[in-house]
Amino acid sequence: MEDNIFLKIIEGRIPATIIHEDDRCVAFRDINPQAPVHVLIIPRKVIRTHADVSEEDRDLLGHLHWVARQLAEKLGVADGYRVVINCKERAGQTVPHLHFHLLGGREFHWPPG
Ligand code: 5GP
Repeated sequence: MEDNIFLKIIEGRIPATIIHEDDRCVAFRDINPQAPVHVLIIPRKVIRTHADVSEEDRDLLGHLHWVARQLAEKLGVADGYRVVINCKERAGQTVPHLHFHLLGGREFHWPPG
């Protein structure tokens, strides 16, 4: 949880398959996909975890959801998809930069592991 590899992707210092970019966020394919569609949507602003979101980030979080919804349509999974945020190591977070996982293209089960 120390090395912020996503900041390097935002800054173009390491490559990624970027599928959306705007002034507030970047979306790119996960390097280790867990579904046929597995995209990470990250804010340009460094927010370490979901628990670090502040009141001033409310519009930004809404924007990330709007982008997720648009990408689900664009990537052909709007018939059923999952948006996941792992918050802190105990919940499986490995990169200390807030990110939405957009997963689709297969059946999902509940409860998650
Ligand atoms: P987390 O476990 O923190 O919720 O999710 C981190 C995700 O980032 C994982 O699904 C992992 O496969 C992905 N990931 C880690 N390093 C890289 C990378 O260098 N490039 C890309 N595209 N994805 C990465």
